[in-house]
Amino acid sequence: MKVPLNQDTMMKCICPGCPTFQKNELTDGTYCAMGVSEKKPEMKGCNCLSCPLYAEYNLSGAYFCIHGAAD
Ligand code: SF4
Ligand code: SF4
Repeated sequence: MKVPLNQDTMMKCICPGCPTFQKNELTDGTYCAMGVSEKKPEMKGCNCLSCPLYAEYNLSGAYFCIHGAAD
């Protein structure tokens, strides 16, 4: 399911706590809505499966910052 980019989804996103986010010095988040990070992050672990939006929007897969937005 597509995830909207709004205040609710940005507040719920737990990307900032994830190892990929931290090791690649990412600054955005909500990549399931935004799509890939321009920083071309290296995979170091993904927190998406623990995110409240994952169940709420019936997401599948992970590493939205690398693979692109959920559809
Ligand atoms: S599912 Fe992942 S990318 Fe989407 S808001 Fe949650 S932690 Fe961020
Ligand atoms: S999409 Fe996954 S890997 Fe990328 S920053 Fe968010 S939690 Fe981390």
